[in-house]
Amino acid sequence: MVTAPPRVLTVAGSDSGGGAGIQADLKTMLALGVHGMSVICAVTAQNSLGVQGYWELPPEAVAAQLDSVLSDIGAQAVKTGMLASTALVETVADHLCGYDAPLVVDPVGVSKHGDTLLAADAVDAVRTTLLPLATVVTPNLWEVELLTGVKVESEDDLMRAAEAVKEHGPEWVLIKGGHLPTRPVDLLYNGSETHLFSDERYDNRHTHGTGCTLASAIASHLALGLSVPDAVAAAKTYISGAIRAGFPLGSGIGPVDHAW
Ligand code: PLP
Repeated sequence: MVTAPPRVLTVAGSDSGGGAGIQADLKTMLALGVHGMSVICAVTAQNSLGVQGYWELPPEAVAAQLDSVLSDIGAQAVKTGMLASTALVETVADHLCGYDAPLVVDPVGVSKHGDTLLAADAVDAVRTTLLPLATVVTPNLWEVELLTGVKVESEDDLMRAAEAVKEHGPEWVLIKGGHLPTRPVDLLYNGSETHLFSDERYDNRHTHGTGCTLASAIASHLALGLSVPDAVAAAKTYISGAIRAGFPLGSGIGPVDHAW
């Protein structure tokens, strides 16, 4: 008999251009050999030039999707992405609180084009309801500042940033320092252990969907049974390949590639 692969759930926003959000998550999951499922929180009208608009789903619709998936199929890991509003952050946190599977929180705030994907008044809900549930939270440098007020300007600031995020209760913090002026360095921290991941900078501007892809790859590897440091290391290998293979699409910034 054929056995089912591990199941991974993404709770996030749809990208009509197919490069980020739910679409990037499901492509990553397929590439890594897990069964991907999706709870859609918001629908964006989006292309390579940016986000032209977005519409949130009613909290009841998000709650119903979570109930359907978790009550029957279940998940060995969950990833959250664009949650858009306080009501949706609280609905998602309410459903995942007590659910026994690793949770990867990508605290999506703003797109690379500068489009806001999380209401300003929802940042506090992310801090107080979602971060305490996270197995790993994966903020970039802008999201660190949004969540903690800590401004990271050099590699020396990464540890202080990780400690500030850790205070909100996640088990592990992965600070993504891909935009540091010197070299890209990510720092993974759990209060006692620290792991640094450095990489060369790839000369490719087609990086749409990087954050979603990395978080989904971490969730997929956790579902496959890896420890958090090993899952992050494997996800870093995956995202490096996907960034190197990112391709032009439309007239703006193209997506990372999942078929590299
Ligand atoms: N659209 C959606 C639905 C997202 O979840 C995200 C990021 O998480 C983006 C767009 C932005 O992607 P990027 O900043 O990689 O362009």
